[in-house]
Amino acid sequence: MAGEAASALGLSMAVLAEDPGDAACAVAAEVVLGSPLVEAELRALARRCDVITFDHEQVDLALLAALKEDGVVIRPGLDTLAMAVDKAHMRAVLVEAGVAVPAHIVVETGSGDETAGAVTGFGAEHGWPIVLKIARGGYDGKGVWVAGDPAEAAAIMAPLTGTVLVEELVPLEAELAVMVARRPSGQSVAWPAVETAQVGGVCREVLVPGRWPPEVIAQAGMLGQQVAELAGAVGVLAVELFWSRGQLLVNEIAARPHNSGHWTIEGSVTSQFENHLRAVLDLPLGSGAPQHAQVASVNLFGGPAGEDPAALLARGLAIPGAHIHLYGKGARPGRKLGHVTVCGDDAALVREQAWAAALALGTPRPDGLRLPEGVS
Ligand code: ADP
Repeated sequence: MAGEAASALGLSMAVLAEDPGDAACAVAAEVVLGSPLVEAELRALARRCDVITFDHEQVDLALLAALKEDGVVIRPGLDTLAMAVDKAHMRAVLVEAGVAVPAHIVVETGSGDETAGAVTGFGAEHGWPIVLKIARGGYDGKGVWVAGDPAEAAAIMAPLTGTVLVEELVPLEAELAVMVARRPSGQSVAWPAVETAQVGGVCREVLVPGRWPPEVIAQAGMLGQQVAELAGAVGVLAVELFWSRGQLLVNEIAARPHNSGHWTIEGSVTSQFENHLRAVLDLPLGSGAPQHAQVASVNLFGGPAGEDPAALLARGLAIPGAHIHLYGKGARPGRKLGHVTVCGDDAALVREQAWAAALALGTPRPDGLRLPEGVS
């Protein structure tokens, strides 16, 4: 999706990909085969580029620091990336700045009884169940577990290595997200806060503006801007929020275009992908204002028998107003393969049409998320 935005602006995007079949290779002007964790391969990319930026967090900060020493321009910068790749560090920075986050402690695996005692003590203080998260390497709920008691927590922790966040299980009324684009000078543009629905840690739908009062949406927007500044973000930053007990808590940040912002492609004046490119190239940012009163964006997944939305495209396109994006990834059960966005004036109708298209494209009905009446 960044490739499409780059192409419209006449920018040349080179992609570092481990597999020539990776979806991004299809839209990149150039492909460098390799891994961001291998110095020679990362340097091969750097030689092709004015600016290096990212679409995931699986990076080696020490390697990036070495490249930066040699004059390679890396945006977002290392301080922002350090927050994005390590949830424990991210939380520490947020707490230090007085930003409200879920109650948590940080423990190291492999410290035996001491760690088990800390986890049990946390559960006793904040109540069971608790949430356990690996600090590095998790995504889409992989690396997040709920433990009902000390024995279950110990069983979850046993195979883990590295740092783990131990958190209260926040009683969620809603999850919100704010996207902010920020230039090196600090100039920034925010999109309106959105409501997201996660099932099993995976985002299933994004509703704009969502079902929450304007004052909550406004408060979320201000918090997003504050966190983007605090993180020193350059490029797009996503701030994921919990709305609970009348308060907004920052769950985590992502220093890149994010699933919560896919709606901006059709739904706002400037898409998150275009503004990410503009921001990392230090070009003027476009407006994040919505172009429609209501937008619904629903993620597409492979069906249980590997149903492939690409094979069902005609069915999805038969839904009026459905903007379908397929990422060109191989279909596997449960794999995120694309998304569909519908814009309009009526919240119920755009949601209904987006879900109708998703189901027509073979996406399984999500457990635990009520779909609009009448969607079959
Ligand atoms: P990931 O980096 O894998 O996306 P997150 O920390 O965002 O991990 O957690 C994924 C989802 O799990 C969240 O969107 C939320 O639905 C749920 N979750 C995470 N932490 C908590 C918590 N402390 N309390 C309640 N739900 C949580």
